[in-house]
Amino acid sequence: MAVYGDRNSYIRMRQGRASLTEELACPEVMNSELLEGLGSVEGVRGVAKARQISCSPCFDIEGFLSSFKEVIEVVEDYNLSSDISGYIEYSHSDGRWIIGVNNFQGKPRQRFTLAHELAHLVLHGAYIKQKGRHEDKKLLRSDDEDMFDAVEKEADSFAGRLLMPISVIEEQIKSGNNTIAGLAECFNVSIAAMKYRLNECGLDWIK
Ligand SMILES: [Zn+2]
Repeated sequence: MAVYGDRNSYIRMRQGRASLTEELACPEVMNSELLEGLGSVEGVRGVAKARQISCSPCFDIEGFLSSFKEVIEVVEDYNLSSDISGYIEYSHSDGRWIIGVNNFQGKPRQRFTLAHELAHLVLHGAYIKQKGRHEDKKLLRSDDEDMFDAVEKEADSFAGRLLMPISVIEEQIKSGNNTIAGLAECFNVSIAAMKYRLNECGLDWIK
């Protein structure tokens, strides 16, 4: 397994590689019986349905994560500085993952953070294990930022697709819920996250 020690070695490692997910996924995580099937948004939604977690229109990310208590602990953290949305940590002593959210931020924002950290776990497990702890300051990155942010964009995209699937957005629009505020409320996400997702879906005409 490659070592992603610092930003420059990571960028060198990335040059010419096609799939971040392939490079950074953690085979041990994927092979863990408990976390099996979580390598994609469709996989997560499928497992959630099987566990009778509410998926539509609002995906119960809190319920989903708490159904994995044996391997994932969620910490509502009051000690994070205001610029940190959340973090993911791997505990080498007991093989468990800790996902922290900044409890001073609003619930819709915390939900996106939880989905973003879950994405890091299932897509970038090896990278996180090697780092031990990964903190997230700014979520929802724009396209002009550098290559290192590819990991973060991938996690943002996963979180967006998990919490706001295009099929459900389209259902909502058809049923007359066609404003950013209305959709954000329906998915229990922030206005910023909703806007980001609508742009990604080519639905930027929705105001
Ligand atoms: Zn992140």
